[in-house]
Amino acid sequence: MSTSSFSALTTLRVGGTPRDVVTCTSAGELADTVAGLDAAGSSLLIVGGGSNLLVADGPLELTAVVAANEGIALIDATTIRAGAGAVWDDVVSFAVEHGLAGIEALSGIPGSAGATPVQNVGAYGAEVADVLTRVRLWNRETGVDEWVPADSLDLAYRYSNLKFTSRAVVLEIELQLAARELSAPLRHLGGERLPLAQARENILATRRAKGMVLDAADHDTWSAGSFFTNPVVPPEAADRVADLVGEEGMPRYPQPDGRVKLSAAWLIERAGFPRGYPGEGAPARLSTKHTLALTNRGGARAADIVELAREVRGGVAKKFGVTLEPEPVWVGVEI
Ligand SMILES: Cc1cc2nc3c(=O)[nH]c(=O)nc-3n(C[C@H](O)[C@H](O)[C@H](O)COP(=O)(O)OP(=O)(O)OC[C@H]3O[C@@H](n4cnc5c(N)ncnc54)[C@H](O)[C@@H]3O)c2cc1C
Repeated sequence: MSTSSFSALTTLRVGGTPRDVVTCTSAGELADTVAGLDAAGSSLLIVGGGSNLLVADGPLELTAVVAANEGIALIDATTIRAGAGAVWDDVVSFAVEHGLAGIEALSGIPGSAGATPVQNVGAYGAEVADVLTRVRLWNRETGVDEWVPADSLDLAYRYSNLKFTSRAVVLEIELQLAARELSAPLRHLGGERLPLAQARENILATRRAKGMVLDAADHDTWSAGSFFTNPVVPPEAADRVADLVGEEGMPRYPQPDGRVKLSAAWLIERAGFPRGYPGEGAPARLSTKHTLALTNRGGARAADIVELAREVRGGVAKKFGVTLEPEPVWVGVEI
C-alpha cells in the first residue's frame, strides 16, 4: 500500500490524492483487493494506465486499485490471453511478432489490456470488439470470478456496459486473431493491407504525428486521447449543421439506424476553437496537433481541464445545437 497522486497515475497528469494506492500483480490479488474494499464499504477506482481518466483535484475518499497483472500468452495457435494489467501496446506487439493479425491497427493506444473492453477501444477502422472473444470478470455484485462472452458486454462505439458502471473488474481478456501475413484493411490508407510489422509502424508514425502516442517530452500527449466522442444525430440535425457552416464536404457517416455520425473535431474547429486554443501560456489547451485532445501544458489542474472542456462543449452547443459527450471516465468532477 502506498499513496501517490492521480497526477502520477494518469496521462493527463492531473488529479488529487487517493486515500491509498494498492498495486495488484495477479488476477487473484486484484479480485481479493476489490472484494475486501467492497465488503468494508470503501469506495475504490480501478486504474490501468490512467489514460482515459479525469480525476478531481484535492484529497479523494477512494482507494486506487492498480491492475498490474501483466502476463501475455498464446493459448493456442491464434488465441492470446492477456492479464488486465498488461500494457495494451505490448499485446499488439506480441501479436505482430507471432504473425497474428487483427489488432495491428490498435497499435499505440495507451493503457492496459483490461481497459480495452471497458470502452471498446478503437482506431483506424478497427476496434477490440472485432477480436475479443471472452473476458474474465470479477463480478462485484455477485462476488463471482467468471469468464463471460464478449457479446454479454454490449460493446458499441466507445462503450460497453462496464463503462461508468464499475459493476465488474476485468481480470483477463482473450483475443481470437488470424494467422496471416497481411494486416486488416487500413482505413486511413484507403483500405490497403500491409505486412503486419509494416502496418504497425505505419499506424505508430501516423499516431505520433497527431500526438496520439505517449511521449513525456511532448505536452500534446499529456491528454486522455480524444476528449469527446463523435456525436450521432438525426439527419435533420446534420443538415442544419451543414447549412449553418455553408461549406462543402462536412464529414458525415450514415449509421445503420438512419442517424448520422458527425466529426467532433470538425464541429469544434468550426465553432471557433482551433488547435492550440486558447494559446501560449494557458495551463490547459487543445493539442496543437489534434483538436479533439485536451492537454495539460505542465501546470494544469483538473479544474483547468474541466473549464476548457466546458467552454468547448458550450461553444459547440451554442453554435450547432449539438451536445458533445466526454469520452474519458471522470471522477469527482462535473463537466
Ligand atoms: C494519447 C492517447 C491516445 C489515445 N488513443 C485512443 C484511441 O485511439 N482509441 C481509443 O479507444 N482510446 C484511446 N485513448 C484512450 C485510452 O487510451 C483507452 O481508453 C484505454 O483503453 C484506457 O486504458 P487505461 O488502462 O489507461 O484505463 P484507465 O484510464 O486506467 O481507466 C479507464 C476506465 O476503465 C476502468 N478500468 C481500467 N481497468 C479496468 C479493469 N481491469 N477492470 C474494470 N475497469 C477498468 C477505470 O476504472 C476507468 O473507469 C487514448 C488516450 C491517450 C492518452
